[in-house]
Amino acid sequence: MEDCIFCKIIKGEIPCSKVYEDSNVLAFLDIGPVNHGHTLVIPKEHHKELKDIPDELLKNVIVAVKKISSAVKSGVSCDGISLNMSNGEEAGQVVPHAHVHIIPRVKGDGLKLWPQNTYEDGEMDKVCGKIVTFLNE
Ligand code: AMP
Ligand code: ZN
Repeated sequence: MEDCIFCKIIKGEIPCSKVYEDSNVLAFLDIGPVNHGHTLVIPKEHHKELKDIPDELLKNVIVAVKKISSAVKSGVSCDGISLNMSNGEEAGQVVPHAHVHIIPRVKGDGLKLWPQNTYEDGEMDKVCGKIVTFLNE
C-alpha cells in the first residue's frame, strides 16, 4: 500500500469522520468543506487517477457515490449536489489518491465551478473529431 495520506486514513493511522465503508470503498468528510457535509469517496486500493482505477472497482466507487450523495442531501438538507474529481496536479489534484468530491449545494452558496469559453466557426467539429479518433482506436 502507498504511503499517501488517504492510504493512511484507510489503514486507520490518521483519523477521519467516516460516512461509509465497504470492502472496496471508503467515504469520509472533507476537512476543508465547501459546505458542511462535503464528502470524499475513495477506492481502498491506491490508484492515482480515474484512468488508473480498474473498471470493476470503478463501478463500486460510482455506485457508492450515488448512494452517499442521497444520504448527504438528506443529512444536511441541502438543495443539490455537485460532484467533482480532479485528475492530475494541473487539474487541481492535491492528494494523489483518486477521490470523488460530493459537494452539498445550497441556493446562493456562490460556488462557481468554471468559467465558460466559446468556439470559433468550425472549431467545435475539429475538436470533436480529435477526441473521437482516440475512442475509435
Ligand atoms: P483535491 O484537491 O481534489 O486533491 O482534494 C483533496 C481534498 O482532500 C481537499 O479538499 C482536502 O480538504 C481534503 N483532505 C486533505 N487531507 C484530509 C484529511 N486528513 N481528512 C479529510 N480530508 C482531507
Ligand atoms: Zn493512497
